[in-house]
Amino acid sequence: MDELNGNTTILYVEDNWDNRTLVRRILQAEGFQVVEAETAIHAMDILQEIHPALILMDINLPEFDGYSLTTHLKMHPDFRNVPIIALTANVMQGDRERSLQAGCDGYIQKPIDVDTLPAQIHRYLSQNG
Ligand code: MN
Repeated sequence: MDELNGNTTILYVEDNWDNRTLVRRILQAEGFQVVEAETAIHAMDILQEIHPALILMDINLPEFDGYSLTTHLKMHPDFRNVPIIALTANVMQGDRERSLQAGCDGYIQKPIDVDTLPAQIHRYLSQNG
């Protein structure tokens, strides 16, 4: 395990099993601790227990979508400073702007690029100091 990343926890909110498996493998290979939530409600439960360094946020989720959860977390004093990166297949014009308006700190487009995802995560983590 990469000791630089070994204590760094990333929460991935995603309802799709294949995506969760792929991203988990990529991030664990980088030495990150990966915690997964299938729904916004599940994520809120998990966030009572952990304080992740970064949240990867799928947008299309059942019930409450990733925009709603992001806006909610950004109003919460405990999570306001946690970077939230939208990870979504939404490619229509304006989706990037909508995710930023919802409070996301960045935007990664699906399909997930196995080769560039680690560098993107490192960049967002370092931006947050
Ligand atoms: Mn989804």
